[in-house]
Amino acid sequence: MESALTARDRVGVQDFVLLENHTSEVAFIENLRKRFKENLIYTYIGSVLVSMNPYKELEIYTKQHMERYRGVNFYEVSPHIYAVADNAYRSMRTERRDQCILISGESGAGKTEASKKVLQYYAVTCPASEHVQTVKDRLLQSNPVLEAFGNAKTLRNDNSSRFGKYMDIQFDFKGAPVGGHIINYLLEKSRVVHQSHGERNFHIFYQLIEGGEDDLLRRLGLEKNAQQYQYLVKGNCPKVSSINDRNDWKIMRKALSIIGFTDDELLNIIASVLHLGNVQYGGEDSGSAYITTETQIKYLARLLGVDGTVLKEALTHKKIIAKGEELMSPLNQEQAASARDALSKAIYGRTFTWLVNKINDSLAFKNASVIGLLDIYGFEVFQNNSFEQFCINYCNEKLQQLFIELTLKSEQEEYEAEGITWEPVQYFNNKIICDLVEEKFKGIISILDEECLRPGDASDITFLEKLEDTVGGHAHFLTHKLADGKTRKVMGREEFRLIHYAGEVNYNVNGQLLNGGQRLKIKKPKESASLNKSGHLCPQIFSQAEPTQFKNSLAKLMEILMSKEPSYVRCIKPNDAKQAGRFDEVLIRHQVKYLGLMENLRVRRAGFAYRRRYETFLQRYKSLCPDTWPNWDGRLVDGVSTLVKYLGYKPEEYKLGRTKIFIRFPKTLFATEDALEVR
Ligand code: ADP
Ligand code: MG
Repeated sequence: MESALTARDRVGVQDFVLLENHTSEVAFIENLRKRFKENLIYTYIGSVLVSMNPYKELEIYTKQHMERYRGVNFYEVSPHIYAVADNAYRSMRTERRDQCILISGESGAGKTEASKKVLQYYAVTCPASEHVQTVKDRLLQSNPVLEAFGNAKTLRNDNSSRFGKYMDIQFDFKGAPVGGHIINYLLEKSRVVHQSHGERNFHIFYQLIEGGEDDLLRRLGLEKNAQQYQYLVKGNCPKVSSINDRNDWKIMRKALSIIGFTDDELLNIIASVLHLGNVQYGGEDSGSAYITTETQIKYLARLLGVDGTVLKEALTHKKIIAKGEELMSPLNQEQAASARDALSKAIYGRTFTWLVNKINDSLAFKNASVIGLLDIYGFEVFQNNSFEQFCINYCNEKLQQLFIELTLKSEQEEYEAEGITWEPVQYFNNKIICDLVEEKFKGIISILDEECLRPGDASDITFLEKLEDTVGGHAHFLTHKLADGKTRKVMGREEFRLIHYAGEVNYNVNGQLLNGGQRLKIKKPKESASLNKSGHLCPQIFSQAEPTQFKNSLAKLMEILMSKEPSYVRCIKPNDAKQAGRFDEVLIRHQVKYLGLMENLRVRRAGFAYRRRYETFLQRYKSLCPDTWPNWDGRLVDGVSTLVKYLGYKPEEYKLGRTKIFIRFPKTLFATEDALEVR
């Protein structure tokens, strides 16, 4: 029989807190590598689940597996996403506390797959109530719909979610899933009008073109050829081997009907975006743009239910206010093309939100207990980081803060509940960075907003200067300017650097950063048109600039999460080639850093590496001591005390709480485990 020691050598430890040297990143990575090689993709850090994307189908998601994790104590079975799901469910039921499962990781790490696994687990294992089948179906079917409209093929992931998602699953008093609610964050709208080489637009466009029935396409004025559409050719990647657009179209249509979409207004809008992309301009001698593609306008007018002349004017003019009067001022070709693209992005963005609202209507339920699922981008660092990365990384900074606060809080609470003295933990509190970004009047977002909304000469450079004036001295903020007036050579003049908890990132303010705001600064209600309830085009005036909107929606998210008991899933991508079995150490080390896993482990190990309820501990080891074998009749705590004294535990190695034993070092436990094996 293989001894416990060699088994540990081969497959590593299933909880990182059991590593001998918990501060060693090398040991951490080695443990991941061993387990990955054995297809053991899940490992805990205490109650946090670390998940490696296997890039192949593993036989670990069957109904039998679900049954194995149902109602079983977290630590008694091998680590699994089902254990996290089940644990959250049981806490919700027994403690009557709302739960949330926070899933993070970089693109392609397996976040969305993990959230689907959780949803499937509940769909299969939870009890049913009368109308539960419909709700279950709708909950599950919201996925293909949202993925069609919000996912795309990128270089990093063939099915990449281009939006963040928070989803509440609502349960009734019997524990049956009875409803749901979805909030979406930061849809990558720029993808509608432009895609990098090797990437695609959102799946829905290709699904419609490839799978759409002939009479539907005829009605929408579309041809069965993606190459015909300007918005679909930018990435030069119409087909992807792992994606079957025609099949996905069928799945999506069926899902739409299950959710309760009956008419085709949604498709009218998708078709209009394609037509908009094909609107082309010519230039008058005066420089003003005019439209050369009448057919597109005809279809657009019909599909969007607007007057053709009004639409044409909106696509070639901007509204200006002169002496209190509204005037239409002509745009040149370039301006008109960007007005057209802005309209496409706005229409698509609004449609997506509208779609999410419709799904929410179909799932609505009141008076429920809740398990929330957050599937949101991890920390992102590219060569060139823009406003989008700024928002994403700020979001991660907030989540990290929440994580630190809640982890420390729950550790402290557990010690108190068990009557064990709390030993304070040293940790880096990233609140200082959150403040730098979000503080009223003097945070980066405030300054950005102010510059966006300020009429006149506001530009990228004035924004940067203002930043330097306001937060220049902050320990986590740098630009090319040094305090002594000299310049820092390694940094460009158009960027600032933030020192995030996970590392340093340079953000470029050049054009990109102000994109979110600039479009709003110019008053052109028609271009920023939106869809009203009936799906028709209507002008919308933004009351708030985008950065502040995002800040506020994040603040709301934090409030939601704070009110719940969290579980964490940290996803890691093993390589960039989307290949099974390849362990790219450099890439993985980066993610371990960005996910804050070492810090996480340090906090978890600060006091005691291991803790177990007395009955669990006694049950497992009672055979090692003649006084506790075969049964211990007295109080559990006395039984455990007798047992560990017999095993030679020294007083400084453990503590006995009200319901649990706390063991300080893994080696103590391993010795006991080994004793069990060699007996
Ligand atoms: P993310 O949402 O983090 O960007 P996804 O969840 O979309 O990443 O995963 C990317 C791809 O990786 C999936 O399409 C799938 O092929 C593969 N994958 C992820 N998790 C698993 C898993 N648990 N088992 C098998 N394949 C997976
Ligand atoms: Mg995803």
